[in-house]
Amino acid sequence: MPPTQSKDYYGILGVKKTASAEDIRKAFRKLARKYHPDVNPGDKKAEEKFKEISEANDILSDDKKRKIYDQLGFYSDQIDPAQAEAAARGGYGYAPGGARQGGGGQGVPFDFGGFDFNDFASQSGAGRQQQPGEGGAGWGSFRDIFSGIFNQGGREQRGPQAGTDLEYQAQIDFWTAIRGGTTRLQIQRQEVCPTCKGKASTGGSQTCPECHGTGQVTQMGGRMKFNIQCPRCGGTGKVENPCPTCHGEGTVTRTEQVDFRIKPGTRDGQRIRLAGKGNAGVDGGAPGDLYLVIRVGPHPVFTRQGDDIHVPTPVTDSAAALGSKLALTIFDGRAQLKIPPGTQSGQKLRMRERGVPSSADDSKRGDEIVTVDITVPKVQDERSKEILREFAKLNPENPREAMWAKV
Ligand SMILES: [Zn+2]
Ligand SMILES: [Zn+2]
Repeated sequence: MPPTQSKDYYGILGVKKTASAEDIRKAFRKLARKYHPDVNPGDKKAEEKFKEISEANDILSDDKKRKIYDQLGFYSDQIDPAQAEAAARGGYGYAPGGARQGGGGQGVPFDFGGFDFNDFASQSGAGRQQQPGEGGAGWGSFRDIFSGIFNQGGREQRGPQAGTDLEYQAQIDFWTAIRGGTTRLQIQRQEVCPTCKGKASTGGSQTCPECHGTGQVTQMGGRMKFNIQCPRCGGTGKVENPCPTCHGEGTVTRTEQVDFRIKPGTRDGQRIRLAGKGNAGVDGGAPGDLYLVIRVGPHPVFTRQGDDIHVPTPVTDSAAALGSKLALTIFDGRAQLKIPPGTQSGQKLRMRERGVPSSADDSKRGDEIVTVDITVPKVQDERSKEILREFAKLNPENPREAMWAKV
């Protein structure tokens, strides 16, 4: 028998125990829309919540499963409904009242009074095939039942819980990434509830809805019935009034504009961390962090590789042949590029430290790399044509010679 864990599926979906299938379906859809991972990207708390409501819906929307859950207070695939019914009638149960309280681990009291362990051991195989010679099996199952109860006992305990981290992507343009600047982003985050200051309650108490003030609930373990301390109120019979603003969550979801400072030289894919700007913690827990993943947009002329900027640059044939100095625009002003005589098309000329300032080290800067693209003049007048013909006669070399030599 696997450990069973009792969860308040009705409470999770916020419906009454008498809720119709339609009520359950509606409640689940409403919560699913709120906590769906697609609506809360990167929000672990919402993800957990979504799993929880999905599990509750899985059990409560299925008539057979719901019946078992209603009778036993938990659900397991290994239980058949007829057996659950028999157990719920209390054939092996123990009636509460006047019993001594047995001490249990983690301070969860349970009753042993009037309980026959031998009987238990002999009955423990009811839900499965008992293997021959499996003498100690009853005790194993017994422990399983209690581990389930103990785990569950600690489930509702509240205390400071750290907030989760958030991650968003921000598209910034090419120049903002290089020069630095700010970008504004709309984010959704959980903030400490302004009404209860994260305490989840505004003080005062009400009768515990789980145990109706008795401090004890009955849990079925297989065909056995146990009285355990109410997990909702910890046995006090009272729970704190939930805060009306946050409905007992301690946090509220807010949409917020956040301005991020973009350092000069920020690269595509870089993560910026804003400490403490993630989801708020609960009951005094530290807030999570907010991460921004930078996506740098392209530029029609320049391309960036790390801190180097590449730019294809047209150069006239005469300037490339004779050599010259070109005035080029770089991102933070102008720079002179020396074209050596005899420069060929496709040749890369490096302008040292004229690229992007390093975001990691202020004293460093990348290079600007110019790829020469030689332009051919469109000759119209006779005089120019004459000069070019003469030039060709003076320079009879065949540029394809080297290529044919390799064929
Ligand atoms: Zn209670
Ligand atoms: Zn509140």
